[in-house]
Amino acid sequence: MASVGVTNTGVTQLRADDRRPVEKTISRTCPVCRSAEQGPIFVERSTHLRALDGYAYASRKNPEFMSLRLVNCPSCKVVYAPELPNPDDIKRGYADAEFDTALEAAAAARSYWDALSSALEDLPRGPAIEVGSGTGAFLEHLAAAGFSPVIGVEPSATAIAAATPHAKTMLCLGTFEETEWPLDHFRLFACFQTLEHLIEPFELVASAFRLLRPGARIALVTHDRMAWINRRLGRRSPIIDIEHLQLFCPRSICTLLDRAGFADVKVLPLRNTYPLRYWIRLLPLPRALKNTIIAGLSGLTLDRVRVTLAVGNMVVLARKPGAG
Ligand SMILES: [Zn+2]
Repeated sequence: MASVGVTNTGVTQLRADDRRPVEKTISRTCPVCRSAEQGPIFVERSTHLRALDGYAYASRKNPEFMSLRLVNCPSCKVVYAPELPNPDDIKRGYADAEFDTALEAAAAARSYWDALSSALEDLPRGPAIEVGSGTGAFLEHLAAAGFSPVIGVEPSATAIAAATPHAKTMLCLGTFEETEWPLDHFRLFACFQTLEHLIEPFELVASAFRLLRPGARIALVTHDRMAWINRRLGRRSPIIDIEHLQLFCPRSICTLLDRAGFADVKVLPLRNTYPLRYWIRLLPLPRALKNTIIAGLSGLTLDRVRVTLAVGNMVVLARKPGAG
């Protein structure tokens, strides 16, 4: 059983410095393979919590270039935060997150569907669920491709408010709870750019396995920390973010899916198409400068020009064994 904010292994009180209030944190072992052994530090903690605004837990926001302390797992190669903020605070952060990127959400959904549609052609149609579905833009593609019913679970009310009337009919507000859905039921379980944000990503993937029928598929999109661009940018990569509790690579995402029982795990690079203004938001430049550039492009009606780039994301597909 899983929910988006789940178990913890211990609660401590930390006072990081005199200017910050006492902050509750939890500690955990590797969220992929459960190893307690911590490898080298990937990045030191860098947080300025008072600088965070309502967009800190929003999708496709301006990166703040802040992060929790991240370490390498020597066993499965995931990079993860061994100490986390209070789960209730994380959950509240997503529930209260602002949302101003419906155009970008639609562009992302198109990129995901373009990457997945041919691989899903042979999958019999039936019920499909997406966890962390935002405005439901990807649900529209699933419905058009014949999946029915199509369900999206999304914790942000503002994201749902930005959905089209048709997408709203498929969206459920709240955090994902396995017990609310039938076992051995869905043909497809999708979860895009969400696993990095979960305290227990394995629990979500294990829930997906139990809710899928034999022969059904799971489809994931995550950042690939080993992708050239992310290695090149290092600490200035947008994947180094306060929201990201772990960062996957092909080996660690395969380990996660293998542990849950999935077979035929395939990892493919993803090319994203976004409006130019979104790519500019990701640049490691001062926010004021980026806003000036975007405003200038907007004056020239160039801010919404669509640009396709491979920026270090991966699509992951796997199958629940058995005949469906
Ligand atoms: Zn591990």
